Amino acid sequence: MKNIRTIEHKTGSPLVNMGPIRLRQPIPTQGIDQVDPFILLHHYGPYAISEFNNPFDLGPHPHRGFEPITLLYKGEQLHRDSLGNESIVKAGDVQWTTAGRGIIHSEGPTKEFVERGGELEGIQLWLNLPAKDKMMPANYQHIKSKDMLVVQNNDKNITLKVVAGELNGKKGLIKTQTAVNVYMVKTESEGIMEVSVPANHNALIYLLDGEVLVNNALTLKKGAAQMLSFKKDGDGFEFEARKESNFLILSGEPIDEEIAQYGPYVMNTQTEIMEAMRDFQQGKMGFLV
Ligand code: MN
Repeated sequence: MKNIRTIEHKTGSPLVNMGPIRLRQPIPTQGIDQVDPFILLHHYGPYAISEFNNPFDLGPHPHRGFEPITLLYKGEQLHRDSLGNESIVKAGDVQWTTAGRGIIHSEGPTKEFVERGGELEGIQLWLNLPAKDKMMPANYQHIKSKDMLVVQNNDKNITLKVVAGELNGKKGLIKTQTAVNVYMVKTESEGIMEVSVPANHNALIYLLDGEVLVNNALTLKKGAAQMLSFKKDGDGFEFEARKESNFLILSGEPIDEEIAQYGPYVMNTQTEIMEAMRDFQQGKMGFLV
């Protein structure tokens, strides 16, 4: 690697309340509005799920104008949507919804998982769509963990799953609308790896657990800095895991457009938000019982 990127921002992962749900939200936070094209990152759990504790059960709700993505780390969720999809998402799987002009979906732990009990943990990521794609037909993709291609370091103690985009010739199975890379990284122990990033992409790292030193400059650790973003001034970065760790690497070409966001809709203007609310009420985003 010729030029290592400079770290631009770092942040913790503060707990926020979303209705009855308590989760971590590194984007947006004070100081980081978005890391264009990534407009929201929620880290939920680990929750000890049982019949008496089931906080993360999202009933039917709409979306328009972006791509809500779930990366499940622990547990098991049932997804249903107005396109007629119904699928069980297991730990390590990814579901990638392109809301486009509108979709209604629900997600939460499966009934069997709630009865059995266990830990639930995941990432919910909102990837923006450019204006020209905001009203495209909705789409749903579910990729199982075992089907994703992986990249490993020389010592084979770091495994990077390519969810979307590509790395070192390994391509993700998710069909994306914009140029974006999503990698789920798991380290078994200490280990070092270099990751290249396209010159025009914004890039960030979010740590779920463990301890990772980035560019020999900043340590990501739970309860301290858990997310960092890079300047577009180099061709990649390197990291050194200090112990067993789980983290997420995201990069994408910035969309660089005005954002009007209200609740579950991400558009370019307030008028388009009003239209989204009206279209949902008129049933134009479909139905989910
Ligand atoms: Mn949703």
